[in-house]
Amino acid sequence: MVWMKCLECGSEIPNTAWSCPQCGNPGEEAPTAQTGKEISTKGMLLLLLLFVLVPILLFLIHIFVPGI
Ligand SMILES: [Zn+2]
Repeated sequence: MVWMKCLECGSEIPNTAWSCPQCGNPGEEAPTAQTGKEISTKGMLLLLLLFVLVPILLFLIHIFVPGI
């Protein structure tokens, strides 16, 4: 069993506990961090896609729409 420090009250709580027995603060530090990493990775992919797709779209618009 791994013991973690509660972010709210600082008391030691087992990582198997869903919330701090002292103050009731939910101990979900690790899953939240993982979700944050996932989101940032997806954000980076989206940014990359934007950087690739936007020039292609502009190029296609420039070709197919005269007068731009
Ligand atoms: Zn606490």
